Amino acid sequence: MVATARRAEYDASDSSTRTEVVTETISDSSARRISPSRVNWVTTTFLLLTPLVGLVWGIVHIHAAGVHPVEIAAFAFYVCATGFSITTGYHRLFAHRSYECSRGVKIVYLLFGAAAFQHSVLSWCSDHRRHHKHIDHDEDPYNIQRGFLWAHIGWLLVMEHKDRADFSNVHDLSADPWIRFQDRFYVPIAVLMGFAVPFAIGWAAGHPWGCVLWAGVFRVVLVHHSTFLVNSLAHTLGRRPYTLAVSARDSVLTALLTFGEGYHNFHHRFAADYRNGVARRSWDPGKWLIGGLESLGLAWDLRRIPRERIVAAQLACDEERLLAPVPGRSEQARACLRERFTEMSACVERAASRLGSVEREFAAAREQWGLRRRAQVKHLRAELRSARIEMRAARLRWRTVLAGLASGSAALST
Ligand SMILES: [Zn+2]
Ligand SMILES: [Zn+2]
Repeated sequence: MVATARRAEYDASDSSTRTEVVTETISDSSARRISPSRVNWVTTTFLLLTPLVGLVWGIVHIHAAGVHPVEIAAFAFYVCATGFSITTGYHRLFAHRSYECSRGVKIVYLLFGAAAFQHSVLSWCSDHRRHHKHIDHDEDPYNIQRGFLWAHIGWLLVMEHKDRADFSNVHDLSADPWIRFQDRFYVPIAVLMGFAVPFAIGWAAGHPWGCVLWAGVFRVVLVHHSTFLVNSLAHTLGRRPYTLAVSARDSVLTALLTFGEGYHNFHHRFAADYRNGVARRSWDPGKWLIGGLESLGLAWDLRRIPRERIVAAQLACDEERLLAPVPGRSEQARACLRERFTEMSACVERAASRLGSVEREFAAAREQWGLRRRAQVKHLRAELRSARIEMRAARLRWRTVLAGLASGSAALST
């Protein structure tokens, strides 16, 4: 079974907006026959029933009783609580250890993460670590090479992975008694937090079943598919600015649909970073929440990849695209392109190095106490502003030169 999709060629003149759509050749493995004994009936029933029940019950309930503000408030609260428990909790804290946090925050993640009905931390993180390790290969549980639908939901419906219960890649997590407790009592915690608590909130407000419908059923379906899009859409739609070696892509649209997890190319290249959207204005509510917890003293040791390494990855990616073998291009033309690219990248690397060191000094100064702190922070803030302007100018020149080189290289090849 072969599915094809178009692949847009890299065009440096429009590299900021260009969307690449992955070409997939779905391997024969996707066509494997699925016998009923391999279907994961519990998960399949839950994943199919929740949207169906939501649709039928939703129509009947809204027609009969309308929509009450308390139902919307409970829904909004539960979407945020369970959504962030998956993205900033299950994903960035537990799976990647990209920061540390207080016990209270961890318990909130464990409770509301269970309410998201995406299995326990141990199971979720084991699958996710395998995904990072074997991305785009057979051992990747949600391998996008097997098709969009497989990566989105299919992998959950079939019991295929022999080592599904093998938690050998999450030893660090299973050493934690709170995480072991959540794994052991996952189902009762999930039902209690996911449906019983919304019922209790609604009962106190006089709308018990409306709250179960909105904060329970509707919310479960929404957060499920938001998470699933990270496995499907974030490996299909968008650009690859940091690495061409994997299918993961950066897309603002995916970020908007997934609580900021759409900068997936950056994430697969620098999984240890607590941010997904590394640019200051990137839509990444998860990084803002973690930053907020840090300023309240509830999170610490936030891991940030140095700016120099991030810029070096972007340059390497651009160079790889620019110097990719093109029929008809001579060795001499390639050497000429390489030389001009190296000249331009030296200037970008200088600006990144200055900005990186000022950012680190600024972060260190903010952590100090005493009279000198204020003066130092003020001085470094000005320095930071100037280094950012220099980086912005270098980046602009980078894009312009790259566009020129790309069109020049096309001419050289003809
Ligand atoms: Zn991924
Ligand atoms: Zn990850």
